[in-house]
Amino acid sequence: MRNVLRRPLPEEPPKKPVGDNGGVPRERLIEVLKMPKVVANAVKTQRCLLCRSPETGKSGLCRICRAYLNETESEAAQTYERDPFG
Ligand SMILES: [Zn+2]
Repeated sequence: MRNVLRRPLPEEPPKKPVGDNGGVPRERLIEVLKMPKVVANAVKTQRCLLCRSPETGKSGLCRICRAYLNETESEAAQTYERDPFG
């Protein structure tokens, strides 16, 4: 009887952070949310800051991304939702 050799696990490439699609890397979102011009541009072009999907809200983020914001990011985003660029 032969020992069954363990197959080496297939090498998976490390998961890339959000951002390679042209969006903002998640860890920099909070910085970006403090730059009204960048947010305004995302709203104007209708490209989510994070995932570049169309249909952004006033904060420059799509509904899906907004659902994943942490408290700090959510607060920053809400200033735009309430009172955009004013
Ligand atoms: Zn998004």
